[in-house]
This record gives sequence, C-alpha cells and structure tokens, in this order.
Amino acid sequence: MSRPSTHPDDPHYVHRTGWLRAAVLGANDGIVSVSSLIIGVAAATPEAGSILVAGVAGLVAGAMSMAAGEFISVSSQADSEAADIRRERQALAEMPEHELEELAAIYEARGLSPATALTVARELSAKDALGAHVRDELGLAEHLAARPLQAALASGATFSSAAAIPLMAAWLAPSGAILPTVVAVSIITLGALGALGAKAGGAPLLRATLRVVGWGIFAMAVTAAIGSLFGVSV
Ligand SMILES: [Zn+2]
Repeated sequence: MSRPSTHPDDPHYVHRTGWLRAAVLGANDGIVSVSSLIIGVAAATPEAGSILVAGVAGLVAGAMSMAAGEFISVSSQADSEAADIRRERQALAEMPEHELEELAAIYEARGLSPATALTVARELSAKDALGAHVRDELGLAEHLAARPLQAALASGATFSSAAAIPLMAAWLAPSGAILPTVVAVSIITLGALGALGAKAGGAPLLRATLRVVGWGIFAMAVTAAIGSLFGVSV
C-alpha cells in the first residue's frame, strides 16, 4: 500500500530521476553528435547524399552505443545492489541481534532517543527486517532500483528520436543550405531540451538551457572547423 502524498499535485522530482536522466542525456547526445556529424561532413562536401548517409550512420551507431553503454553501466549497478542485498539477508540470518542494534543505531543517528530507536527497529524488523535494512542501511528504494533494460531502451529511443531532428532538417533543407538549416534547427531543439530538462528536474531554467545550448554550439563549431579543413585538403 503506497503512502498517501501530502501534495499529490506536485510529486517529488526525485521520483523522476532515473529515467529522466537517461532520457535527457540520450536526447542531448542524439542532437549534438548527429548534428555535429552532419555539419562536419557538410563543411567538407556540399554533396547532399554523403551528408545524409553520414547522418543516418551516426544515428544508428549512436543509438546502439548509447543503449549498450547504459545497459552495461546500469547492469553493473544492479549487480552491486543485488550483492549488497544478498549480504544483508545473510547477516540477518547469521546475526539478527547485531543487525537489530545496527538498525537502531541508524535511527538514533537520525535523532531518535535510544529507546525509541530500538522500538522502531524492533517493530520494523518484525514486519520486514530485510526491507528495513535495504531502505535505511543501504539507502536503496524501490523507485530508484537499477533497471538496465528500461534505461537502455529509454536512452536508445530518446537518442534516435532526438537525432532524427537534425537529420530531417538536413533532408528537408533547400540544396546548398544544409549547414545553416541544421545549425538553426539544432540550436532551437537544444534550447527546448534544456528548458524541458530544467522544468522536469526543478532546476533553474535559464542556466540549464544556456548550458545545453552552449555545449551544443561548441561541439558543432569544432566539427565544422575540422570538416572544412578536410574539405580544403581533400
Ligand atoms: Zn544491516
């Protein structure tokens, strides 16, 4: 039975952190890496076909590597969480008295009197000893549990859908205007993403938006410079 929230209309941001972080990261990466790739190739050659092929290859490669990277990193987090819980279960079986004292000490450190802390520890342990240790000693909460597949899918999906924006812009741009079109569309999209991420995460809007846009412009400028160097030398 979930605890009724005192402000159901304004949920805590912490409940959104898991998938939000992967989603914003994936989307930001999608726009910056694919738009930079397109701009770098467009700076080297005006040939629309090569630019689009590079864009599609960048989207697929990026989505796969994001999903794989997220799956691997969150899986190792899930592995260490599972190992900690296993160790907790074993400790509870082998030395329940010691574990009870340990739990009481945690509540005491949070401000309860020794007697109240021991009572709370006893009552919670009577109901669900492992749950109490996992939550209050290991600091693991169900809504923050590592979910590798969810994180990988969220990351891969947001990368691809975000990367599709500069790619569509390159495809629909008037011939000879691919570069400025992709730059403009990418900056606007990054601005919107920065604002969305700030809003959803409760962060200051302007600073978060400028941070996302600033890094995006920097990445596009560097790849455009390198691309144009290649264009001159090829
Ligand atoms: Zn313990």
